[in-house]
Amino acid sequence: MTSLKQEIDRRRTFAIIAHPDAGKTTLTEKLLLFGGAIQMAGMVKAKGDRRRARSDWMKVEQERGISVASSVMTFDYAGHTFNLLDTPGHEDFSEDTYRTLSAVDSAIMVLDAAKGIESQTLKLFEVCRMRDIPIITFINKLDRDGQDPFDLLDEVENRLALDVVPASWPIGMGRDFKGCYDLFNDTLVLFDRSKGEELLASIECSGLDDPKLDQLLPADQLAKLREDVEMIRGVYPAFNHQSYLEGHMTPVFFGSAVNNFGVRELLQGIGKYAPSPRPTKTLQREITPDENKVTAFVFKIQANMDPKHRDRIAFARICSGKFKKGMKLLHVRHGKQLVIHNPLMFFAQDRETVEEAFAGDIIGIPNHGNMRIGDALTEGETLTFTGIPSFAPELLQRARADDPLKAKHLSAALEQLAEEGVARIFKPSIDPNWIVGVVGSLQFDVLMDRIRSEYNIPVKFEQVEVYAARWVSCDDPAEMKKFVDTMGSAVANDHDGDPVFLARNSWHLNDTKDKFPKIQFSATK
Ligand code: GDP
Repeated sequence: MTSLKQEIDRRRTFAIIAHPDAGKTTLTEKLLLFGGAIQMAGMVKAKGDRRRARSDWMKVEQERGISVASSVMTFDYAGHTFNLLDTPGHEDFSEDTYRTLSAVDSAIMVLDAAKGIESQTLKLFEVCRMRDIPIITFINKLDRDGQDPFDLLDEVENRLALDVVPASWPIGMGRDFKGCYDLFNDTLVLFDRSKGEELLASIECSGLDDPKLDQLLPADQLAKLREDVEMIRGVYPAFNHQSYLEGHMTPVFFGSAVNNFGVRELLQGIGKYAPSPRPTKTLQREITPDENKVTAFVFKIQANMDPKHRDRIAFARICSGKFKKGMKLLHVRHGKQLVIHNPLMFFAQDRETVEEAFAGDIIGIPNHGNMRIGDALTEGETLTFTGIPSFAPELLQRARADDPLKAKHLSAALEQLAEEGVARIFKPSIDPNWIVGVVGSLQFDVLMDRIRSEYNIPVKFEQVEVYAARWVSCDDPAEMKKFVDTMGSAVANDHDGDPVFLARNSWHLNDTKDKFPKIQFSATK
């Protein structure tokens, strides 16, 4: 029997961060192939009918070629259990991505060899840096002509202020791409275009002077490889595991995801170097993963994943202990005991009820709307998880049902979506319609589509004269009452009933702040 510590030690919970089109989906697919989680490539972003039939709002995704739903994929490979948390790449959905990053221990940063670091890579990297998430870099698409590998390393080093260490080194590029030399293990992995995705065994070498290499590589490319590696060993520091774990250094792998090249080495690298579940901070104390008692927090809610079931799943990261099916946990926010009858885990496209799960794992908890992002589950302790980001809604519009008789239904739908965390909603004191606030404009399209397909309510979003929403609070109830009475029509309530000030423009906001110095205005809740 394996001990709790052994179970935890073999877990790797990670996400892939990338600018759209760098190859995140392709890499995910190939990683799952290694885990035997899927039989055939092409299933993650299934072009097939099954996925299409799932939910109409995914049409938004198909039409725009982006991935808007994020999920969890668990698979085993070479003695490790990997939990890969998928993150939507489009910037309008970065809110979801940021929350997902609060639930991982490490990240893979995928770069397109031709494009290097792009805008979204930079943003996501900043989030990883804030959380000290260690990063392994995968430079993708070596089968195409791209930038010089030294330039790519320089770019990572300079723009991200990270120490870089090549873990492998490409031999040629584009049409001349012959494979990679694994610098950590002194092995040669050859690339054979004609073999498609089939993997070639890596060839052990005694070093770069190994005479085998002369037979395996063209003389000019071998000479270049030797020269490059001499330079690498002179210029870059040796790999320092501690420095990687602290987020100061990134090992860099090269490959071609679509050709399944370099993916095995990357996965082995994650197994070998990426951290097992790390401690989690709460307001009260730090939780260590091998504590006996179970603690977990909800970082994502997804409703209506399957329209047939009208279900709602809270994704919870287990932070400590061994979770068992049927366990009774304290839902801290409600102060109530909750029996988790059917905890789910996700294996590629399938979800299964699981008997047990360990720190580092993500379980899905089906529920009827009582769980929220940030909720804590414990065996009795009161804990408040910190660092699950909340974003200020920057774009605000009024939601109106095409059919006025459906206003009530629309209200219910919006409240559910707000609980899911996809939008903020505000009910102004004098307007029967909800004002909806989002971070990126594409979210309005998704909302419109989801409300139409999942709740069968045709809905429109209209411009409103609201520039910003600010949650208001005050220690002095009399002052708060005065504020609400004076500001009247500019005061709304969010779906929890908490007061929010809706400013018409920046002058209105500043003027009101000046008039009510005792009131606190907050852009996030
Ligand atoms: P995502 O937006 O980051 O999820 O990117 P995708 O995985 O969807 O890939 C974007 C495009 O790049 C697709 O057309 C892929 O087929 C292509 N692609 C992915 N990996 C490679 C690669 O190694 N080489 C080449 N030439 N194309 C690739």
